[in-house]
Amino acid sequence: MSASTATAGSLFMVAAPSGAGKSTLVNALLAQEPAIKLSISYTTRPPRPGEQDGREYHFTTVEDFLARKAQGEFLESAEVHGNYYGTSRVLIERQMQAGTDILLEIDWQGTQQVKKQFPDAVRIFILPPSIPALEERLKKRGQDEPHIITRRILAAGGEMAHAPEFEYVIINQEFAIALAELNAVVKATRCRFPQQASRNAALFAQLGIHANP
Ligand code: 5GP
Repeated sequence: MSASTATAGSLFMVAAPSGAGKSTLVNALLAQEPAIKLSISYTTRPPRPGEQDGREYHFTTVEDFLARKAQGEFLESAEVHGNYYGTSRVLIERQMQAGTDILLEIDWQGTQQVKKQFPDAVRIFILPPSIPALEERLKKRGQDEPHIITRRILAAGGEMAHAPEFEYVIINQEFAIALAELNAVVKATRCRFPQQASRNAALFAQLGIHANP
């Protein structure tokens, strides 16, 4: 049995190039679905204006990050745009065991590492409606230095080249439509047999439905 079929919880991974609107979409989803827990990653990137330690990220030093990595603290980790990012293993495993739905906002490298450990994890790729739209969103956000924006625009093609690995693709042209599609993926995933059987064990027993007849 894979780790993810042992519980009623589902593991979602959302990836996108910078500027596709991923965080805005994910935050709107979480407002509608508060039962989904967002994993707070560790990063060596400096905080942007308005970001708080422990809310958007656990901000840390390269030295601390590498020490945690060496101790096996990360479920996955990667270098993205010149900074390190990683997902805490213990928090994810604890929540998966408790049957909680979890969402990871990570890059394609991280999704590959997690998929090996949780084969039932659902990957969703958010695409921008066009390259100019992506550039405009990155510049409008106004949170990064121009050279960092340029670096992220150049990296977008490399990130999007991995879209075919994902189970679902959402094009963020109309925000409301993209959000409804993201919500639909979450709802469909919750209706998978193992999730339903685990969440409704008493009903399934009463109806004489067994997972492995
Ligand atoms: P940002 O610096 O814009 O917050 O994030 C840059 C990129 O790093 C995004 O693609 C984001 O999804 C990715 N990222 C954030 N946290 C993690 C993580 O824990 N692991 C991995 N592999 N990527 C992450």
